[in-house]
Amino acid sequence: MDSPRIAVIGAGIIGLTSAVALQEQFPSLPITVIAEKFSPETTADGAAGLWEPHLTGSTDVKLVRKWSHATYNMFQELWQSKQGSKVGLKFMPLTCVSNQEFNEDVKILHQGIPEYKVLNGNQLAKLSREHGNEYRSGFEFNTFTCVPRKLMQHLLAKFVSRGGRVEQRKVASLRELALEGYSVVVNCPGLQAEELVADKNMFPIRGQVVMVQAPWQQEVLVQHSDESSYVVIPNQDSVFLGGTSQKNNRDITVNPSDSRKILDECYKMIPRLKTAKILKEWVGLRPGRINVRLELGDSMTNSNGYTTFVVHNYGHGGSGVTLSWGCALEVVALLRDVELIRSHSKL
Ligand SMILES: Cc1cc2nc3c(=O)[nH]c(=O)nc-3n(C[C@H](O)[C@H](O)[C@H](O)COP(=O)(O)OP(=O)(O)OC[C@H]3O[C@@H](n4cnc5c(N)ncnc54)[C@H](O)[C@@H]3O)c2cc1C
Repeated sequence: MDSPRIAVIGAGIIGLTSAVALQEQFPSLPITVIAEKFSPETTADGAAGLWEPHLTGSTDVKLVRKWSHATYNMFQELWQSKQGSKVGLKFMPLTCVSNQEFNEDVKILHQGIPEYKVLNGNQLAKLSREHGNEYRSGFEFNTFTCVPRKLMQHLLAKFVSRGGRVEQRKVASLRELALEGYSVVVNCPGLQAEELVADKNMFPIRGQVVMVQAPWQQEVLVQHSDESSYVVIPNQDSVFLGGTSQKNNRDITVNPSDSRKILDECYKMIPRLKTAKILKEWVGLRPGRINVRLELGDSMTNSNGYTTFVVHNYGHGGSGVTLSWGCALEVVALLRDVELIRSHSKL
């Protein structure tokens, strides 16, 4: 039998990190990324690029923590190797405040974040006064933001320079790739899992953001309340003001009243933002799911009579950038357990 071939469906942040991690672990295996759309037309192209772990549906909080931390470590290595500017990395303070108490899961999620501090009563009172709000809890730590478009360009260039193949086309079914003789299909279609594998647990979460020019803003601010969340996220290119989080809404047109609300709430937190020039308004659909689907799927028999193994990696909601590298390493770990692939693993 020829060397097993791997197909990765999807060239968003999840597909590309999966492809690069697989290539690093199985350097002798031919890997092809097959996608209908590439950057700048993927979901992360309009994302802020903030590293912040979030509870993601019913996904085990310890897994979310593990995957998020692996991505943090990857960012830190890029930062320390002075290659951070290639992917638009910035390292800056993050403050998160809420008018609710954080539950136990959030506390578990945050364990191990470097320089993490819970805000004390005086700090909460000061921020409540400044923002005209009543905060009951909050925390701060230093974090990374990246420019996802640059990160995806970097990953794709790395993948191709190491011999990875790329095909632009729409895949009709996973079986199509089994019939083409692939031994492994890594399925990273984002929200389109609804169509490609008829996943009824997927749903869109509409996110509208306003990007402004405010290079003086060098701190991430996140505000949660019962009904909404507002964020100010500087990355290397601009400052993201957000945002909406509308479940089951597929409207990708910019809604002026959403932008108005976002601007008003962010101006309340940081009045100086009123002077910032508006660069762009953007809407994206986060790939929501009851939990992240990261598992071996049903295998298939391929055109040569051999088995085609399937790994699903999709449904990352509003945390795809944060979870990306950790999930890619999990894909590698799942395939390391497959006898056919294990023998090709780097020691
Ligand atoms: C406004 C907004 C802000 C965000 N900010 C952040 C943030 O700051 N931090 C963070 O961690 N996350 C953030 N996110 C979430 C993050 O952007 C997503 O979780 C992530 O981009 C999802 O990536 P993906 O690769 O799974 O999906 P996608 O980017 O949608 O990629 C799917 C890929 O699969 C391909 N595909 C699908 N079906 C087929 C098929 N049948 N055949 C061939 N190809 C196919 C597509 O063409 C595409 O290449 C934000 C999202 C939004 C909307």
